[in-house]
Amino acid sequence: MNTWVDTHCHLDAPEFDADRDEVIERAHAAGVTLQVVPAVMPSTFDAAREVAHRCHGAYALGTHPLYVHQVPGDAIEQLELALQRWRDDPRLVAVGEIGLDHFVPELQDEASRALQERLYVAQLELAVRFELPVILHVRRSADGLLKHLRRLREAGRAVPGGIAHAFNGSEQQARAFIELGFKLGYGGAMTFERALQIRRLAAELPAEAIVLETDAPDIPPHWLYRTAEQRAQGLRSRNEPAELPRIAQTLADLRGWSLDQTRRITLANALTALPRLAALSA
Ligand SMILES: [Zn+2]
Repeated sequence: MNTWVDTHCHLDAPEFDADRDEVIERAHAAGVTLQVVPAVMPSTFDAAREVAHRCHGAYALGTHPLYVHQVPGDAIEQLELALQRWRDDPRLVAVGEIGLDHFVPELQDEASRALQERLYVAQLELAVRFELPVILHVRRSADGLLKHLRRLREAGRAVPGGIAHAFNGSEQQARAFIELGFKLGYGGAMTFERALQIRRLAAELPAEAIVLETDAPDIPPHWLYRTAEQRAQGLRSRNEPAELPRIAQTLADLRGWSLDQTRRITLANALTALPRLAALSA
C-alpha cells in the first residue's frame, strides 16, 4: 500500500472544526492515510483519541510544555489513568506531546522551567512503565531533554525511543537522539531555502533517522507561508496533512531520492519509532 505517514498533526485543533472531515478526505486522497495526533493536555485527550479513530489513524497522550500553566494539578494522574484505560487501544501509539520549551519568553522564569521539567520527567516515567515511545517537543531544549533520557537509560529504565519532533538542533544533538533510539521529525520548516542547518541535517543524517510530519495546522511549508504583514491583514495560513507528499519532495531533492523511495524509507522509520503503527498501516 502506498502509505504516507504524517507522524505529527493536531487534527483535533479548533482550526479544523469547520471542515475536519474534508481535511481528512484530502489527506487520504493524497495518500497520507496514516496520521498521528498528539494530545497537548488532559482536556484534549478525548478529542485526540476520537479524531484518530475517525481518520483511522493513531494518537498520543500527554501534556505539552506550552500548556504547563493551564493543566490541573493532577495532570500526571490523569495521564496515568488514561494510559491505563486505553492501553489496549491499538491506536494509542505513544506518550506525547511532551518535552521542554526554552524559547517562549513567558515560560522561562525559574518556576515555569521547573514545572516544565517536573512534568516532562513524570511523563517519561509513565512512558517507561507503559512501554510506549514518546513524541518530544524540542525548542532550544535538546540538551535538557537528552539529560533525562540518558539518566533513565543509565538507571536501567530506558525510554523506548520515539520522535524528536520539528527537530531544529545541532548535528551533535541529532546524533545524541539517534543514539538513544530516536527518530527526528522533519516538515514544513525544511522547505525554506534559508533553513540551512535544518536542510543540511535532513540531507546528511542517516536515512533511517528521519520521519516526516506536518505539525498541522502549524509550521506551514513555504508555499503556505504568510508574512507578518499579510497576517496583519487577516490572511491566515493553515497547514494540513495533505501537504505531506509535497513537503516530502523537498526531502527527496535534498537526499537525491525518488519520491517513492522517500515514502518507503520514512514509512519504515515511522514504524520503527512508533511500533504500534505497524498494525494500523497493514
Ligand atoms: Zn505538536
